[in-house]
Amino acid sequence: MMLPKLLTKINPYSYKLIDKGVHQINEIAVSEFLIEGKDKTLLIDAGCDIFNLKKFVKSKTNKEIMVVNTHFHFDHSNGNHKWDTVYIGEKEMPTFTTKDCYLKLVDDVSSALYKNNPKLRLLKPVFNKLLVPKKGKTKYIPLKDGEEIDLGGRKLIVKDFPGHTPGSITFLDPSRKNIFMGDACNMGFYAWTNPGLNLHDYADTARAYYKDVKSAGYKTIRGSHEPFSHKISFIKDYAEWVDKLTPEQAKKQFDLPGGQSKLCVAAKLDIKHGAFACIYFAHQCD
Ligand SMILES: [Zn+2]
Ligand SMILES: [Zn+2]
Repeated sequence: MMLPKLLTKINPYSYKLIDKGVHQINEIAVSEFLIEGKDKTLLIDAGCDIFNLKKFVKSKTNKEIMVVNTHFHFDHSNGNHKWDTVYIGEKEMPTFTTKDCYLKLVDDVSSALYKNNPKLRLLKPVFNKLLVPKKGKTKYIPLKDGEEIDLGGRKLIVKDFPGHTPGSITFLDPSRKNIFMGDACNMGFYAWTNPGLNLHDYADTARAYYKDVKSAGYKTIRGSHEPFSHKISFIKDYAEWVDKLTPEQAKKQFDLPGGQSKLCVAAKLDIKHGAFACIYFAHQCD
């Protein structure tokens, strides 16, 4: 995206050491993580592409940089086109057509919006630039559940956690007993971005995931939209809450153009974890 010259001189990123060899990069409303090994540096997610994340990351490490995506959403994948190679979950490999769950949603919503309000069509190039990752010349390589990423002296393990998108993946760091969660499970979980998801199935997935990571001794999770970590029990407790959600429990209900049913927003304070929130379609509770 072209920016006025002055804006390009402002550093839009904050950069914070959050654990041994792990930096959190914060841009507008999303975070990326930079994990140092002896041989390679792992960049978890490529950002919104409003500013130049690649240039920023290259100023922080001289090692080879391996770029991975937790999932194919604009705030995690828009910057992909700047890199030669991006690794992504095998069930999330982008086709850059409406076969991709996310691009179908963008298409469904935008088509309905333009139909309701033809003047909005004038903004289509802007919406597309902000919301649709560019294909570019980037080569995509699939990551399988259980696959190890060796950075030299530090390994991360890929673990599937579908729901937010059909092929969302997480990265386990066994040396620190921490999990990089992306958007797979967090305080403001978006179920609506995968309209085919059923919330009871998601709760089952989350419970099974929790059982696995607990037995492997993991302690904390770090999401892409929160400045702090949670204990892994968040996953289990969140699953219990989501499993019982109904459309009637929503604090607000909306008609989303192009949506299959009412869009619902539910939230609840929680003594142990602070709060739970979820945005879901009514049909996802069936
Ligand atoms: Zn997302
Ligand atoms: Zn996100």
